[in-house]
Amino acid sequence: MTTQTKAGASVAPDANVAALLSKLDALDLQQKEISQQPSPTTDLSTTLEPRPNPYSSRVILTTYPKQFGIHPLSLHWGAPTAEERGPIVASRHPDSIRIRNAIGAYGGSYCIYRALAVAIGELDPTHLPNFTLTEPPVQIGPHPQWSDPKKIVSLDPYGHLVTTAYREDIGRGTDVRPSIAITKAHMKIAEIDASVAAGRLTVDNRIVLPNGDLNVTKAAVEPVWYLPGVAERFGIEEVLLRRALFEDTGGMYPELITRPDLKVFLPPIGGLTVYIFGDPAHIGQPGKRLTMRVHDECNGSDVFGSDICTCRPYLMFGIEEAVKEAQQGGVGVIVYFRKEGRALGEVTKYLVYNARKRQAGGDRADTYFLRTEYVAGVKDMRFQALMPDVLHWLGITRIDRLTSMSNMKYDAIVNSGIEVVERVPIPDDMIPEDSRVEIDAKIADGYFSTHEGDKVALLQTKGRDWEDVAH
Ligand SMILES: [Zn+2]
Repeated sequence: MTTQTKAGASVAPDANVAALLSKLDALDLQQKEISQQPSPTTDLSTTLEPRPNPYSSRVILTTYPKQFGIHPLSLHWGAPTAEERGPIVASRHPDSIRIRNAIGAYGGSYCIYRALAVAIGELDPTHLPNFTLTEPPVQIGPHPQWSDPKKIVSLDPYGHLVTTAYREDIGRGTDVRPSIAITKAHMKIAEIDASVAAGRLTVDNRIVLPNGDLNVTKAAVEPVWYLPGVAERFGIEEVLLRRALFEDTGGMYPELITRPDLKVFLPPIGGLTVYIFGDPAHIGQPGKRLTMRVHDECNGSDVFGSDICTCRPYLMFGIEEAVKEAQQGGVGVIVYFRKEGRALGEVTKYLVYNARKRQAGGDRADTYFLRTEYVAGVKDMRFQALMPDVLHWLGITRIDRLTSMSNMKYDAIVNSGIEVVERVPIPDDMIPEDSRVEIDAKIADGYFSTHEGDKVALLQTKGRDWEDVAH
C-alpha cells in the first residue's frame, strides 16, 4: 500500500481507494443501465411539462488516469510563464472533458447556481463565454513570486491573463475561464464621508473625490488549489487532503480519489476581493510604502452594522489608513476574504451568539472561544496558511503598516517571507460597546494589542444582555 505524497510524486491508491474505485465502476454501470431504461411515467407528467434533458444519456461519474480518450492538457504549476504553465481546464464541456486537467468547476460556489440554471433550461450547458473587452484595465504582475510553486498554491497567478495567454486554446473551443478579474470603481461609504467632513481625510481629486467617493482598483479572485502545495502548506500528506475533501463535500468530487494525476482543484468556496488605493504598479516597488488590512468577511457587521463585533469599524479604519497611505504617495490595500464567521458560516455564528447570550453569567469574554468550540468543535477554521498567496500575487514583499491585531494573520504573512514593519490595532474609540467581549477575548487569547498590561482584568468584560433590547 503506497500513500506517499511528496509534492509532485504520484499517489498510488490504497486498499480503501481501490474498493471505492470498484464501487464507482459499479455505479457507473448501474447509471448506464438506468439511462437505457424508458423513463417511468407518473402522475406528475400530467401536471408538469417534462424538461428536455440537456445532457448525454450516459453519466460519466468519474474518470481515471489511463482511461481511453482521456488526455489532460499538460499543466506545470510554478512554471515561469503562463504559456509554459498551461491553461487550467476544469470544464466538463463536451470539447473539454477529455483534456480536462483540473478537478472541480469554475466559479467557486456559484457553480451550483450554474447547474440550477442549466437544469431549469435558462442556460445551455455547452455555452462558452464571450470574453470580448473583459481584460484588466490595469496591469498586475508578472512578479517573480508567480513562478515560485511554494509561494502561491491557492490561486492561479495567471488567472486574470487567461483570455490573452490562452487565446489559442479558447479559439479552439476549449472552455478555459479566468479565475481573476480586475476592474476600476468608485466607492461611497458613510464612514469615509464622515472622515472627510471631520478633516481626517482630505479631498485630493485623485483618490478621494470632491463628493467623498473613493477611487479604487479592485480584483476578484476565485480559489484554485494546487493540491500538493496546499497539503505541504498544512504539513499533511496529499492523499489525506484529497480524502478529506472528498468525504467532507459529501463525495462531491470522485476525481479527488480516482485522478491522482490531476493536481489542481477548484474548490466550491468563496474567494476574495482586493481593493487597491493608489497606483497598483507601485505595489512591491522600492521606496513605495504599503498600508494594508486582510479582512475576513462578517456580513452582520460589515454590511448590516451589527454591534456585537468590531469587524466593520476595523474595516473602515483599514480603508481610511489605506487611503491616507495612497494620498502620501504609497499604496493602500484591503484584501476581503469570504470566510464568514471565521469560516464556520453564519448559521454556526448565530448559534454561538445565542449560546453566549444565554449562558449563566451572560456574555463573557472568558467563555467567548469556548462557546464557539462547543458548537463547531473548533474556535476558528480560517487557517491563515493560504492567505498570504494573494499578497505574493500582488508582488508584496514588505508591509509598512498592517492594520490587524490577529497573530494568525501576522504569523502567516511573516512566515511566508513578507516583512511587516508596524502592526496597527483598531483605535479604542472605534470599538462598539457590545463588541468589547470579542475584542477583549481576542487580546486575552494573544491577539496583538498595545495594552499589554490588562489581559487578566479584560476577562471581566461582559456584553449586553438580550433583555436590554426591546423587541
Ligand atoms: Zn464580525
